This record gives sequence, C-alpha cells and structure tokens, in this order.
Amino acid sequence: MATTIAIANQKGGVGKTTTAVNLAASMAATRRKVLLIDLDPQGNATMGSGVDKYDVENSIYELLIEEKPVKDVAVTDTNGKYHLIAANADATAAEIKLMEVFARELRLRNALKAVQDTYDYIFIDCPPSLNMLTVNGMAAADSILVPMQCEYYALEGLTALMETIRQLADVVNPGLEIEGILRTMYDPRNRLANDVSEQLKNHFGDKVYRTVIPRNVRLAEAPSFGAPAMYYDKSSTGSKAYLSLAGELIRRSENRNEVAEES
Ligand code: ADP
Ligand code: MG
Repeated sequence: MATTIAIANQKGGVGKTTTAVNLAASMAATRRKVLLIDLDPQGNATMGSGVDKYDVENSIYELLIEEKPVKDVAVTDTNGKYHLIAANADATAAEIKLMEVFARELRLRNALKAVQDTYDYIFIDCPPSLNMLTVNGMAAADSILVPMQCEYYALEGLTALMETIRQLADVVNPGLEIEGILRTMYDPRNRLANDVSEQLKNHFGDKVYRTVIPRNVRLAEAPSFGAPAMYYDKSSTGSKAYLSLAGELIRRSENRNEVAEES
C-alpha cells in the first residue's frame, strides 16, 4: 500500500513546492518508489522536476477530467528517479470542470486506487488556496504535511488550517491526519523564529518534525536548474535537510506500524 501525503498550507510562499520536489527526490534516493502529483496550475513542482509544463502531452487535467489512468499520465522527472503527474494552466480548467462532475471531490482518490502497489510514497503538491483541486488532494491523502515559516502570524494561520482540515475530513476523508508540521526557511539567528518555533512545539508536540529546513540558496536556485537540489549538490545544507526529513518520515511510519502490530 502506498503512503499518500498531501503537502498543504493555504498560505503561498511557505515552501510547499520546494518540500514536495525535494522530498520526492530524497525518498527516491532511499530507493522508495515515488509519485509526485502537481496540483498547482502554476506548475512549479513540474518545472522543478525538470519537466516542461508547456510541453507535456498529459497532465493532471487528463487524469481528473478525462479519467486517464495514472500509468498513462505520469512522466519521469529529469533524472528518471521518480514519477510525476504534471500541472499547467489546464489545471485551472480542470478545477472549473470538476464542478460539473459526479463525486468531484473523489476523482484523485479514485484514480490512485490502481497504483497502490506501484508506489511506496505518493506526494501531492497543493495550490495555496482551498479550491476543488486542494480538496481532491486532501481527500486522496492519508495525511497532511504542513510546511510553515516561523513568523509572527504563523500560528494563527496554522490554527485556521487545522480547523479546515478537520471540517474537510468529516465530509470527504474521515481518516485524514496531520502527518507533521515542517519548519521551513529557518534562520536560527532570528529570535522571533526561535520563539515561534518554541510555541509551535508547545502547541503541537510530536507533530512538529525534528528536522528543520534551513534557508539555503541551493534550494532557492534549484528550480532554475530544473532539478531537485540534491541532484547537483548533495552536500548542501538544504539537500541534507530534506534527506533527513525523508528518514524521519520513514522512521515515523515504521514506529506506527510497530505500534499497530503490538495492539
Ligand atoms: P509554496 O509552494 O508554498 O508557494 P515555494 O516552495 O515555491 O513555496 O517557495 C517559495 C519561494 O521560497 C521560492 O522562491 C523558493 O525557491 C524559496 N524557498 C523555499 N524554501 C527555501 C529554503 N529552505 N531556502 C531558501 N529559499 C527557499
Ligand atoms: Mg507551490
């Protein structure tokens, strides 16, 4: 069974796409079979994987609206390490067309049923809004990974997001959990960041990943190389942080499985 994780935060620019792309590449580096799904019409996860969003034959549109199977829609990333379902402006059309279809919230979930044994991890990069694409992402996921920047209004935004997830889960995905909260673009010299980080740990305890993603220029410039940072600079602090996050996710899921077996 694949583990499906949606990467979501209604705020833009918090590191969702950077996390989706680098986590996909890091998980693939640990020899897990990975599918990355770009749900954002901006197509940043697509371009960041080295796939030209203007030049793909199939994308999330074909998957959601034409109901083409994952195996026909997925392409490989620039280094052939993981699979990708691309997105571009057509995703906006898909969002509008979804409004007219039956069980519109469950299109992605249903599409992923056929590939549960094909992949170990499926990551979904959500757009920075709560539209029907995001709802599809959350309905298809086992859990949600929330990237956030440790800044002044962060906790407020997070509480709102948690409430949304709870309401949504009630309707379309009762098993939905928060996988974890990831501190991104972290600067340990910044006092406010440290304060917010402490509050976060007090509030959300174990849900806050131990791994912290530092502000790192390699991560910021990676999209212009059209490849996840670890493909061209494995030793950068950004690449190492995402590898360590992949390790943390794997350990967490192993611990959960042990607990499940014991009970
Ligand atoms: P989102 O998908 O939430 O909108 P992005 O992942 O696109 O956020 O990140 C927003 C911007 O910040 C991008 O320009 C990205 O390159 C940059 N960025 C993200 N994470 C880091 C980081 N850890 N260090 C430096 N820059 C980062
Ligand atoms: Mg994004």
